[in-house]
Amino acid sequence: MFKAKAYSVSSATSQFVPTTIERRDPIADDVQIEILYCGICHSDLHQARNEWSGMMPTVYPCVPGHEIVGRVTRVGPSVTKFKVGDLAAVGCMVDSDGTCPECQAGLEQFCPNFTLTYNFPDKHLGGVTYGGYSDSIVVKERFVLRVPSNLNLAGTAPLLCAGITTYSPLRRWGVTKGKKVGVVGLGGLGHMGVKFAHALGAHVVVFTTSPSKKEDALRLGADEVVISKDANEMAKHAGSFDFILDAVAAPHDINAYINMLARDGNITMVGAPEQPLPVGVFGLIFRRRSFSGSLIGGIAETQEMLDFCSQHNIVADVEVIPIQKLNEAYERMLKSDVKYRFSIDMASLKSE
Ligand code: NAP
Ligand code: ZN
Repeated sequence: MFKAKAYSVSSATSQFVPTTIERRDPIADDVQIEILYCGICHSDLHQARNEWSGMMPTVYPCVPGHEIVGRVTRVGPSVTKFKVGDLAAVGCMVDSDGTCPECQAGLEQFCPNFTLTYNFPDKHLGGVTYGGYSDSIVVKERFVLRVPSNLNLAGTAPLLCAGITTYSPLRRWGVTKGKKVGVVGLGGLGHMGVKFAHALGAHVVVFTTSPSKKEDALRLGADEVVISKDANEMAKHAGSFDFILDAVAAPHDINAYINMLARDGNITMVGAPEQPLPVGVFGLIFRRRSFSGSLIGGIAETQEMLDFCSQHNIVADVEVIPIQKLNEAYERMLKSDVKYRFSIDMASLKSE
């Protein structure tokens, strides 16, 4: 075991403070990574503040962070894909059983025995896993991704959650040229959804509550921007979408978007508000519309997404911050004031 520097919270209402955690020495197929950048996902905030207490109660102290990019510093004896000095990335999962039908299908995110990167039982050290708000992490090779060499590293970190979480449903629902696609909520996930839908050739419409984001939405690849509080603008799009991706972190009127779908259209939730969203069934029945959800993506698809980003030169738009600004970043995220993902420069942790 060795000591790692990290930032943790000790309760749902506390601030992040510097701390020291233990990591295991790399055994067998483990890869040890020096973390260079870690994105801040809204899920980190939900988890740090125990907002998902029903589904996934938070164990404190909690070290979040599942958008990790770094450099390999040590490898276990049976590692074959990585060597010291390679760039490497880790997303939301660090282990799964590898044998169940979900794992066999490349859908490790649905494995009943998976291990999430933080706040999940740690099979090696006991207690819970600790995430990427830290200077290092040790992860099984199967859950370590290759980082294309042409991408900016600070902007690559958010691809490991915000990227795959939006790429996966866009692919699954057949978004291509000629499709009309809506993206609801221009935050970390939403802005990646816009970039991917645009790169896939769709006609992209962004729905935002923030009029100040209109110009950015167009620059990111939207063809149209609708301010969702404007009923007239909303009405113009009734019954017209093939697919809508909803990436909103708070309760909102989902029926307004269901009614914008064309026949057989689908709306997929990736946003995970803590309370249930009431769904008007008639909106679904009358045009055979569907309402579904999606959870991150499997490891092979995550690598495919990174390679797609490499080919299309896509990274997240990030505001790089020192880790000392973590608490401030959380408050800004709650105000929808992120352009469009915070990425922590882990060099700042060296001074702690
Ligand atoms: P984020 O950066 O905070 O963005 C959320 C956006 O939602 C905001 O920027 C805002 O966009 C919009 N919004 C916020 N409050 C709203 C409200 N009251 N009504 C309407 N719109 C509102 O969050 P994120 O990191 O993208 O995460 C979004 C959600 O996805 C979170 O719930 C997170 O936990 C979840 N998530 C799910 C998965 C998965 O696998 N399914 C993976 C990662 C994250 P505008 O300013 O444009 O309105
Ligand atoms: Zn996330």
